[in-house]
Amino acid sequence: MSAKHVYFFGGKTAEDTGLDAKGQKELLGGKGANLAEMCRIGIPVPPGFTITTEVCAAYYEQGKKIPEAAVPAIEEALKKVEAAFGGRKLGDPADPLLVSVRSGAALSMPGMMNTILNLGLTDASVEGLAKKTGNPRFAYDSYRRLIDMFGSTAMGCEHEKFEHEIHEMKKAKGAKLDTDLSADDLKELVTRYKAVYKAHVKDDFPQDPKKQLFLAVNAVFNSWNGNKAIEYRRIERITGLRGTAVNVQAMVFGNMGGTSGTGVAFTRDPNTGENVFYGDYLINAQGEDVVAGIRTPEPIAKLHEDMPKVYEQLVGIRSTLEKHYKEMQDIEFTVQEGVLYMLQTRSGKRTGTAAVRIAVEMVKEGLIDETTAVKRVAPDSLNHLLQPQLDPKSKVEVVAQGIAASPGGASGIVLLSAEAVVAHAEKNPNDSIMLVRKETSPEDVAGMHLAKGILTSTGGKASHAAVVARGWGKPCVVGCEAMKINEEAQTITIAGKTVKAGEFLTINGTTGDVMIGKVPTVAPSMTGDFATLMTWADKGRKLKIRTNADAPADAAKAREFGAEGIGLCRTEHMFFGKDRIAAVREMILATSTDDRKKALAKIEPFQKADFVGIFEAMDGYPVTIRLLDPPLHEFLPQKDNVEGTEDVARQMGVPVSAIRERVDELHEMNPMMGFRGCRLPVVFPEIGDMQVRAIIEAAIEVKKKGKSVLPEIMIPLVGVVEELTMLKKRAIATAEECMTKAGIKVEYQIGTMIELPRAALTADEIAAEAEFFSFGTNDLTQMTFGFSRDDIKGFMPTYLKEKILPVDPFQSIDVKGVGKLIDMGIKLGRESRKAKHGQHLKVGICGEHGGDPDSVVFCHKVGMDYVSCSPFRVPIARLAAAQAALGDTARDK
Ligand code: PEP
Ligand code: MG
Repeated sequence: MSAKHVYFFGGKTAEDTGLDAKGQKELLGGKGANLAEMCRIGIPVPPGFTITTEVCAAYYEQGKKIPEAAVPAIEEALKKVEAAFGGRKLGDPADPLLVSVRSGAALSMPGMMNTILNLGLTDASVEGLAKKTGNPRFAYDSYRRLIDMFGSTAMGCEHEKFEHEIHEMKKAKGAKLDTDLSADDLKELVTRYKAVYKAHVKDDFPQDPKKQLFLAVNAVFNSWNGNKAIEYRRIERITGLRGTAVNVQAMVFGNMGGTSGTGVAFTRDPNTGENVFYGDYLINAQGEDVVAGIRTPEPIAKLHEDMPKVYEQLVGIRSTLEKHYKEMQDIEFTVQEGVLYMLQTRSGKRTGTAAVRIAVEMVKEGLIDETTAVKRVAPDSLNHLLQPQLDPKSKVEVVAQGIAASPGGASGIVLLSAEAVVAHAEKNPNDSIMLVRKETSPEDVAGMHLAKGILTSTGGKASHAAVVARGWGKPCVVGCEAMKINEEAQTITIAGKTVKAGEFLTINGTTGDVMIGKVPTVAPSMTGDFATLMTWADKGRKLKIRTNADAPADAAKAREFGAEGIGLCRTEHMFFGKDRIAAVREMILATSTDDRKKALAKIEPFQKADFVGIFEAMDGYPVTIRLLDPPLHEFLPQKDNVEGTEDVARQMGVPVSAIRERVDELHEMNPMMGFRGCRLPVVFPEIGDMQVRAIIEAAIEVKKKGKSVLPEIMIPLVGVVEELTMLKKRAIATAEECMTKAGIKVEYQIGTMIELPRAALTADEIAAEAEFFSFGTNDLTQMTFGFSRDDIKGFMPTYLKEKILPVDPFQSIDVKGVGKLIDMGIKLGRESRKAKHGQHLKVGICGEHGGDPDSVVFCHKVGMDYVSCSPFRVPIARLAAAQAALGDTARDK
């Protein structure tokens, strides 16, 4: 711990910590560091001092006691504040200095810790304040607020007990609002508040201002470990901080007449990023009045009319601050009798749209360089620019909240089954539909694709609905437990309101909000500043970015967003098409190899046509096509779906019993650990043959058109090298046959997914056969933890709350466990491939983590060649990959 515990700021100086900006923030907290910095650059700030975060750490080490050496330092600093503020003394009965006592950690934790205002008011000094301000009402109101704030935050009195008193007082006086109470009423209220305080604390409200001060400092330190603050740090993944600093600062008042006021502003528009001064202010008011909404604030430009000189000064400060911090600032100010004071500056929170515009414009203005601009935008914030948005101008009433699974806004008429969506869309292709389900399954994809948005009452971020919707960039909210679906009545109920099928519902997949009725949307595009920032990002990154796409349109969209190939084409998604599902079912119901081949022959032209489309869209880029992966039962109606079973039987011209029997046969206790992935072509090689033929023939056809094709055949769920050896041999034979027949050669590779722990553990053996690895981290996470990826809702929230896991491992790679397997798999695989074939083993990731910025950083660190993610996350991955390569990001948490 450094020798100095307290740092004074005021006038045009601030005590030097001898640290760089980062170190200052760590020692003094964000607020304290910025107050000191403002003083240094000549901006008017009421004097004060900061007790360091190290003192907070020592406070806890010493069993919640302010370290002894800090006490005289605090008293000393207080004297300096008194001297710097016209010689007023804390608690002086004639003209008291009042101070605010506020928290301030290195990372902003808004509203999570304690603040005590008006400290220094006592029975004697309140009279002085009343005289000085000529406003006894204000003085007594400040005093009663101090007793409440101090009592509840420092001494643990219940705030409700104070509230009860003011409520009773208002009732007795026939007052509607707090402001209707007179000075005498408030004086009486002070007496009652003091009684509440005494009843709880068993002591009088302290009349010694220094005692107030030290107790308040304790209270702020204690709030560092309050439940709210702990929970906030957990959610925001804030770790490694020493504690909070405490800022004690002279109070200034904006409610001292027509030449006083208070306001909050941003140096640029935080919604659009436009370089305009943006904010609100109130004349003759205190900060609380703005927050409490008692009066409607005026736009900042109005200050120009009310106090032109102050406005000019503020505009100058706006520019000084931006030039100094080279970042958009969020500021608070107060004008006391014509004198302007800045109370806070910090980098301002902004939307993704604003973040991009501000970063790019600041480069153009010469404030920052391109690298800083790239580092400064949080990759996830780009979501804001990538999806149709609910029109921000529209008014919405949120009736429920689920998990934000796929961003963007969508409105549509409610339909409760995928079949209903398909049927409705056939007749009314221009209608917007909201598919609302308990959950979705692969059977639903046709309907899901046609819907504008998807809402489910169960499921998490890696549930089927979430993964599929993200893949298509379709807004989706899952796990909306407040919603009850009544299929029989064809209604849903949310928050006591009933919506019938056919009525409009709106979701915001960025926030998880659900609204009844229709809300207009606005479309996204990657142009202007967004495109500029992306080209800067591309200069910095090492990782290639591919996309997960199963249809030419998705591939084309991903290319628009900058994808450099396809990392995962899930062929099974093509099997659900209206024109092919019957043949797929025929294949599944077949009882002989010949019958199976006949059915497969019907699917083959469709597969080939799909691959042609994808190869064309990805001209010149590699395309990884994965052979069939899911268990076959997913292509048949579910066991208890009587109607669906009858429909399929009718369509296929077979008895209902035949379908039932096959569904029974295929039933598995743990289908995700069952007959799927490479196990399918091992048992039914003709399925793999058909797919390889379709891939190679499509590649030949596209090559003939003069385009460049780079197919990569990917075998899923390999756990034993012998599986790959067998399937690879067969694939090569099929490919060679196609090429000989066509008289054309195409370059292709055969590789595997690493999605089973055993595959990672034996990666050296597998790499002897595989030309590339793609980590399927959805399954790898599932299989490593033994967590079913669709069923974690029951325990994951508790796991996160209890800090058993720092983050949902399906959302962000579990670096310690799954990450260890990945790292090991890459090392073993690369060494072996090099030793046995003298080749570099290409490695990528195609699980959902490929679009998660933190996971992308991990992929960069372990030396992957590429990440692959859904089309709409491609720009996010580009930016995250650039930031990973450029090192520390400059953005705030
Ligand atoms: C994976 O398991 O990570 C993967 C990409 O495959 P799927 O999600 O289709 O199982
Ligand atoms: Mg998988």
